Amino acid sequence: MAMAAAPAVSPGTVPLGVLLRREVTKERMERPDVLCGEASRSRKGEDFTLLRADAGRRVAGDPSTSFSVFALFDGHNGSGAAIYAKENLLHNVLRAIPTCLSRDEWLAVLPRALVAAFVKTDKDFQRLAGTSGTTVTFVIVDEWVVTVASVGDSRCILESADGSFYYLSADHRFDSNPDEVERVTACGSKVGKMDIVGGPEVGPLRCWPGGLCLSRSIGDFDVGECIIPVPHVKQVKLSNAGGRIIIASDGVWDDLSCEMALDCSRGFPSDVAANRIVNEAIRPRGIRDDTTCIVIDILPPEKLAPTPPKRQGKIAFNNMFRKKSPDVPFKTDSEYAEPDVVEEIFEDGSAMLSKRLTTGYALEKNFGRSSCAVCLSRLKPGQGISLHANPLQYGKLQGWQGPFLCHVCHDKKEAMEGKRRRKDSSPTVFGHMC
Ligand SMILES: [Zn+2]
Repeated sequence: MAMAAAPAVSPGTVPLGVLLRREVTKERMERPDVLCGEASRSRKGEDFTLLRADAGRRVAGDPSTSFSVFALFDGHNGSGAAIYAKENLLHNVLRAIPTCLSRDEWLAVLPRALVAAFVKTDKDFQRLAGTSGTTVTFVIVDEWVVTVASVGDSRCILESADGSFYYLSADHRFDSNPDEVERVTACGSKVGKMDIVGGPEVGPLRCWPGGLCLSRSIGDFDVGECIIPVPHVKQVKLSNAGGRIIIASDGVWDDLSCEMALDCSRGFPSDVAANRIVNEAIRPRGIRDDTTCIVIDILPPEKLAPTPPKRQGKIAFNNMFRKKSPDVPFKTDSEYAEPDVVEEIFEDGSAMLSKRLTTGYALEKNFGRSSCAVCLSRLKPGQGISLHANPLQYGKLQGWQGPFLCHVCHDKKEAMEGKRRRKDSSPTVFGHMC
C-alpha cells in the first residue's frame, strides 16, 4: 500500500500563516470592543459625564495599551464641584500611577491611585471655597478588566453575558448604610430625618447642618469634612464573552430597579439603551431630577451589539463573585474553565486613608520615598508625616515608615477622621437637600 503523501511541513511545526492567524485571533480576543452611549434629561443642569473611549495609554506611544474612562458626576447645591471633578479627576488619577509598570502592576496600583486622586481633587476644590458637592462614579475599562471608584449614589451595575448582574458601586446614602451613619456620627456630626417643628420627622436620613443625604462626595465642605471623598473601589474581570455596564444618577434609580433598567434596554445598542432607560425612568412621574444614564458595552471584537443573555435577571451578590485567591499571582490573561464567570479582583470601601493607601502592592514604587501619597508634592527629608498611627513601631517591623503625607494632606486626613472638629456651630441650612 502506497504511503500517503507527506504533509507540506514536518510534524510538530506549524506553518507561518497559521501562526500569524493565531496571533491575530489572540490579539483580537484580548482586546474587546468598547462601545458607549449616554442619555440625559436635565432639570437643574447639575449632571455631567465624561466619556473617553481612548483616555490614555499604559505604555506611552503604544496604542495597543489604551484604556477607556467613563464617569458620571451628579452635582448638588450648584454645579461647581461636578464640573471641577470632571475637569481634574482623570488627570489626578493618571499622575498618581507610576510610569514603566507592567499591565499587571498597572491594574494592581489603580485602586490606590484612585483613592489618592479622589482625595487630591476634593482637597484642591476646597481651595476654591465652593459649597457645592457631587457624586462621582468613575469607571476604567482596560481590556476585560473593569475598575469602578464611587462616592455618593450614582449606581453602577454590570450584566455579564450569561445574564447575571452585579453591583460595582457602593451606595453612600445614610438610609442604606448604617456603617456610614456610625462613622459620621462618631466624627461629631448629627444624622437624622428632617424635623419639621410640631410635625413628624420626614424624608431620608440626612447629615446636619446642610441636610445632605450622602455620606461621601467630592465637595460639600460646609456640611463638614466627615463627608469624605474616599471612594469605594471594585475591580472585576469579565470573561471574553463581555458584558454591559450601566451607570446612572439617582434620577434613574429612584424610579427604576436594576432589573427594570436592564430589562427595558436589553439587546439594544448602547446609545439606544441609554435613551430607553432614561425614558422609562421619567415615564411615570416626569422629570423630577436630573436623570442621566451611561451604557457601556464590552463586546467580543466585531460584535456590534450585545446579544440578549440566555438567562436574565439572575441576581448575583458580592459573595457570588469568583474570588481571586490571595496566594495566586495576579494574572490577567488567564483562561478559565467557566467562560462567563466574572472574577472579583479587588474590593475595598473603607473610609480610613491609612488603610487604603498602605495595603497591597509595591508601596515604595507606587508613591516614591519622598513625595506625599495624596498630592504627590515633593517632601524634604524629615518633612513627611507617616500614615501609620505609630510610625516608629511600624518602622521597626517594616523598615520603612511610609507612605508619607505633606502637612496639608495630613490635616485633611485628620479632619476626615473627625480628629479636627469644626469650630463653628452654624445654623441649620438646607442647601444640600438631595
Ligand atoms: Zn499632600
